[in-house]
This record gives sequence, C-alpha cells and structure tokens, in this order.
Amino acid sequence: MKKVVLVILLVLGLSSLGSASPPRVLCTTTIISDVVGQIGDDDIELSVLLPVNADPHGFEPTPKDIAQISDADIVFINGADLELGLQPFLEAAAGRIVSLSEHLPLRRLETEGGSEWFDPHVWFDPRNVMTWSAVIAKTLGELDPANRGSYEERASEYRSELEELDSWIVEQVGKIPPSKRKLVTDHAAFGYFAARYGFEQVGTVFPGFSTLSDPSAREIADLEDKIRSLGVPVIFVGTTVNPSLAERIASDTGTKVVFLYTGSLSRPDGPAGSYIALIHYDVEAIVTALSEAK
Ligand SMILES: [Zn+2]
Repeated sequence: MKKVVLVILLVLGLSSLGSASPPRVLCTTTIISDVVGQIGDDDIELSVLLPVNADPHGFEPTPKDIAQISDADIVFINGADLELGLQPFLEAAAGRIVSLSEHLPLRRLETEGGSEWFDPHVWFDPRNVMTWSAVIAKTLGELDPANRGSYEERASEYRSELEELDSWIVEQVGKIPPSKRKLVTDHAAFGYFAARYGFEQVGTVFPGFSTLSDPSAREIADLEDKIRSLGVPVIFVGTTVNPSLAERIASDTGTKVVFLYTGSLSRPDGPAGSYIALIHYDVEAIVTALSEAK
C-alpha cells in the first residue's frame, strides 16, 4: 500500500516538474528577443543568437549557434531575407521556426538583374511589431497552453505601448518641415519608417536592402551629386555598419554622419536597450539632425 502511494506521488511529482520546465525560445536578433521577452517574461527560457551590434545581414553562425538552433523548442526569426546566412541551418532545425514577417505586407525591390528582394526592416513601423506581438503570444500559447492567458495579456499591454510609440513618432516628426524629410542612410533600412511617417529615402551608401555589396565609384559619385542638389545635411549610419565610406562621402559633401541603431539594440544599459528605446533614440536623432539644418 505504502509503495503504491509513493509511486503515485513520484509520478505526480515528475509530471508537475515536466510542465514547470519553461519552453526554450531562441530569437535571431536582439530586437526580436526584446519583443519576445516582453510577452514571454519569466514563463519562457529566452536566448538570442546574434550578439549586440552584429550585422544581421552578414551573420554566419558558429557551431555553438547551430547547436542552439537545434536545441530550441521554437526559433523566432525576422524572415523576409534578413537572416540569409542562417537559412540552411534553420531549414535543418528540429524545433518550430516562426517567421515574424510572414503575414506582413512586405516592400519589394527589383534589381537591374531582374531578381526580387524583400525589404526585411519591418520593425521600423511599430504597427508591424504589433502584429509580431500577436503572432508571438499565439505561438507561445500553443507551445505552453498553461500560460496562454499571461502571454495574451502581456501582448495586449505591449500593443498599447506600441500604439503610444506610434503617436509619439507622428508628433515628433511633425517638427521637421515636410520638404526636409529626406533620408540618406548607409543602406535602405528605413523604407517602412519612411512610408509610415512621410519621409523619402533619397539615397544609400550601400546599394539595396542589405549591407553586403559595395557601391561602385559611379554610385558613390551619383550619391554625392544627389546630396548636394537636394541639400541633405546628414548621412545616417547604423551602429552595425562600418562607417568609413559614409564618413568619406560626408567629408566630400560637407555634411555630417549621425549614428542610429538599425539592426541591433545597444547593450542593455545603453541608449537603445529595448525596441521602444531604439525607436525613441533614432527618432530623436533624426528630428534633431533634420529640423536644425538650414
Ligand atoms: Zn538592414
């Protein structure tokens, strides 16, 4: 009799231990990891693949990263061609891969060679991150039904913060005269931002949506002409990108380089330690640089 009770207690104990072990959730970028952490909080075991300041376009995984991908219960990726270097390893992963861009209206770019690229920088429109939060809550709830209510609740609170963020951006960019809402950046990371808040991406140092190919001498000369003729005062450069070419173009054209956070958060104690802090930092830098210019 005693033995039976002991066995029952053991089985109960083990099963409650099993359900208490939180889902292992892996995210590719620090930006995604922050958003997933807002929703998963202490109910998940969260890790992030890319270190702070890694360029997501050029990231190649180490054997340790590949092991992490295969150990995770779920991997949240940006998708839309952002993590090209990870593609083969994601395809081989055992756990579920969720692309947060899958149901978003994506911007596209057709190159002269006829190939088509997606613009992966969807997080520069907070309304897209609201969609992310719904996808993340739903996915975590499926993986861990016991905490489904908490995931949904935190996602809905976070969406209100994102709505506030969106209104704040509208108010801030209102300080820039519409004729000065022209962005020259290291690469075309601000398409969604420009479309949402009435800017125009007039030129980039590196061609296209990525940082992986260098511009030709001709492309650099064309960009310098454009900067002069439009009177653009600033080249915005992401912290994940080597700024030397942008600095040379700035010195040729008498403009200045201003740093923004584009593909990565800062360290947690830095100025862009969360997604919302990143957007605040960038918008303030853009507003200051463009509204003060003559
Ligand atoms: Zn980028």
